[in-house]
Amino acid sequence: MPEPKPKPIETAKMMKRIMADHFREADAASREDGKKLAWCTSVGPAELLHAMGFTVYFPENHAAMLGATRTATDHIPKANAIGYSPDICSYLTADVGAHLAGKTPLQDAYGLTGIPKPHVLVYNTNQCRDVKDWFAFYARKWNVPLVGVESFRGVGDVTKEHVDSIAGQLRAMVPELERIAGRKLDMDRFREVVKESRETSRLWRETLETAAHKPSPLTFFDGTIHMGPAVVLRGLPVANEYYRALLQELRGRIDGKVAAVDGERHRLYWDGMPVWGRLREMAVQFLALKTCVVASTYCSSWIFDALDPAEPFESMARAYTELFIVRDDHYKERYIRRMCEQFSADGIIWHDAKTCPNNSNNRYGMPERLSEALGRPFVAFNGDLNDLRCYSDEQVKTQFEAFVEQLAGG
Ligand code: SF4
Repeated sequence: MPEPKPKPIETAKMMKRIMADHFREADAASREDGKKLAWCTSVGPAELLHAMGFTVYFPENHAAMLGATRTATDHIPKANAIGYSPDICSYLTADVGAHLAGKTPLQDAYGLTGIPKPHVLVYNTNQCRDVKDWFAFYARKWNVPLVGVESFRGVGDVTKEHVDSIAGQLRAMVPELERIAGRKLDMDRFREVVKESRETSRLWRETLETAAHKPSPLTFFDGTIHMGPAVVLRGLPVANEYYRALLQELRGRIDGKVAAVDGERHRLYWDGMPVWGRLREMAVQFLALKTCVVASTYCSSWIFDALDPAEPFESMARAYTELFIVRDDHYKERYIRRMCEQFSADGIIWHDAKTCPNNSNNRYGMPERLSEALGRPFVAFNGDLNDLRCYSDEQVKTQFEAFVEQLAGG
């Protein structure tokens, strides 16, 4: 039987164009007089940077491209050789290794000569410490200023003290950013960007929530591709135009009863990172198994309900502290439970990513506790986001097959 093919989403053509524009703008901002480029972590203070006139570039997006193009595994040893452990974030080691090798997928995809060099590096440790170490490498290498937010971790309820502390750190960054940008922060512009970003977040949530429909018009594997604008262009009108178009297409699928997975029999929730170098293989396997991975912690991480233009600093502080990755296990369990119910998931896939403990939530008994509470089975597999040496094709394929058989038998 021929291999099933994932159904193409037409709006992807628009995404290719806007992502190409994004990278070319970042390249121009890195070299042209009067423009400034800021690097930002994926859940860093992008709204503040846009408001100050920076073009914003996200190295995690670049590192995911290294994974998706399957070049990451070749580059990682170069970073290991200068002291970055194979056990730390393989986004960091792939990106630094590629830089040391003078390679980037941006060369072939967009004709750039290299990664765009920043005027400032801005991090938030809300996701992990690795992002700060990653940016510190480039700060030393290029003698570029490094500023950031030291976040809370393992947060239960997000309190006023948390919000005040993070908002204070964001405010404290402003004078240095103004010096680098060569302009003052315009609060009206800041409010406008936060408003747009709130809209990006709302549209992205609606996009993901179309998958609650049976059959789902969207899979997790589609989501990992279509989340690009929510990550790198949030706060800009172009991202909102994109999600309006995508939503229209997905609603058309719902109206026309077009399923992302023909004959959808089972629905699963995904926790943890994607395996970037195996997205297509996994999408194809689940198509053949008539199983749709309908929702994930990962794709939902770029939903920032708290953003509020009336209080740009405080609402950003709250939005970036309310994130799943920042929270304690009690919160995470309630969140996944709610998601499984909302999306009618029959079971959960847990990805234990070797180099990202921050996004691997299976290590302290959570799958077993949730499985018992929900009465739904789970499968946990060992792998990695970028380092394919930590991933066994055969083993994972067999695990997924056995899991779906178990679902069918139950
Ligand atoms: S959260 Fe994980 S994948 Fe993301 S930068 Fe941190 S260690 Fe890397």
